[in-house]
Amino acid sequence: MTASGPRIALLGFSIECNRFAPPATQRDFDTRCWLAGEAIVADARGPAPKALGEMPGFVAGMDAAGPWQPRPILLAMAEPNGPVEQPVFDRMMATWRAGLEALRGEVEGAYAVLHGAGLATALDDPEGALQALVREVLGDIPFVCSYDLHANVSDAMVRDCDAFVGYRTNPHLDMRERGAESAQLLRRLLAGEKAHRALVRLPIVAPTVSMLTAAGPYAEVIDLGQELAALDPAIWNVSVMGGFAYGDTPFNGMAVVVTAADQESADSMAERLARAAWARRDRFVAELTPLRVATRRAKDSPVPLAFADVADNPGGGGRGNTMHILASFLAAGVEGCLMGVIHDPMLAGEAHRLGVGARFTARFNRPQGTLTAEDEFSRPLEAEAEVVALSDGRVTGRRGIFAGTAMTLGATAALRLGGITVVVISIRTQCADPAFLEHLGLDIGAARCVVVKSRGHFRGGFDEFFTPDRIVEVDAPGLTSPILTRFAWTKLPRPVLPIDPDAHWSPAR
Ligand SMILES: [Zn+2]
Repeated sequence: MTASGPRIALLGFSIECNRFAPPATQRDFDTRCWLAGEAIVADARGPAPKALGEMPGFVAGMDAAGPWQPRPILLAMAEPNGPVEQPVFDRMMATWRAGLEALRGEVEGAYAVLHGAGLATALDDPEGALQALVREVLGDIPFVCSYDLHANVSDAMVRDCDAFVGYRTNPHLDMRERGAESAQLLRRLLAGEKAHRALVRLPIVAPTVSMLTAAGPYAEVIDLGQELAALDPAIWNVSVMGGFAYGDTPFNGMAVVVTAADQESADSMAERLARAAWARRDRFVAELTPLRVATRRAKDSPVPLAFADVADNPGGGGRGNTMHILASFLAAGVEGCLMGVIHDPMLAGEAHRLGVGARFTARFNRPQGTLTAEDEFSRPLEAEAEVVALSDGRVTGRRGIFAGTAMTLGATAALRLGGITVVVISIRTQCADPAFLEHLGLDIGAARCVVVKSRGHFRGGFDEFFTPDRIVEVDAPGLTSPILTRFAWTKLPRPVLPIDPDAHWSPAR
């Protein structure tokens, strides 16, 4: 059988970068998802992909719509972290450039999986740079890009593609669907249809916890966008991008991006939704529970509760190792508590050497070498502990954003510290999936309380145990605190809500 159908370049770069966190290295990509050439398509079609859902959804969508010929280059994804070390990003760019140049004149279209809140240490807009590279090398061929809902949308991201597709759910449960939608839009472009895009950015840097999509102001704007799009055949896609405050870029701010058959439809829809978001501006605020109140509830609550350590979320660049909640709960004698997942390779390794049943003094966050800025939050803690379970940390996600994804937590240990069982891992990951605790034999349903190092994605994984009214967002210090006045911003556009009450915006039309 000879191959037929359009030849499509495939590439991707996905990492959410917190300006205040230590730099991301090649190892961050190697340990999560580094796929080159044919491995991208094999992974996407496999039973438990390493890649998050966009590429598997795109490949399935293309497969379902008829013959095509993938031309995969490089897909690099990592757990959120600080800005990518510049030489690491430069090497990726060289790989994409070489791959694209080899395909020049051969491919009819391109698809890129992007996050939109990436940074390199000397570059504020790596996604925009990659998109410009695709245009430079491949020229004006159909090009679709998909983005995380936390994208900080630059002008280049909207200029250098034909269709812009952003997630609509937070927690992100629609990654596969948005990949499949990207395939549909690319097919339309390949058939000769033309698309236009509009971008309206607002001076609102919404705290992470105010951007859930089940309910609240952000949900209302997203839902309105989908309702209006369904009524207007000219609209291809409406994406309301919440942004990621800690990227700290000049183009931070909630952004509406519309792809449509004509410019007027795109412009008016983007404007209309921007007005809807602006009208709700006073509601994009963080309302957290003080740690002292959270501790009391952990002791006294008649019903089981989930406590989210939103300020130390590895899914936003947090180190996953701050001790504020653990120290407070230990001091108060909280019982029946599961806590995870804490990133401490040295402690996990020690537990593995000692073995199940061993009792020892667990020393969290032992200082290693030169102290770095992250130590401001990642303080040491010592407590008597018993090793209750061990694993190699290989887990397939069960529910939520990691469902069906092959994950590696590295050497993992469950340690009992009084009434609290703490899961310690060796590869920094946010606690978004119950399997991270369950694979060690821990029973979430039997716990009186669960503490997760996660801002909000745990809601998609732990929803079988905790309804939204049983979730407590705790105010503790950390690199991903939703209290935005605590950060020394350098590039954020000012004034901006909710940091500066005098921020203003008026529609262009
Ligand atoms: Zn996100």
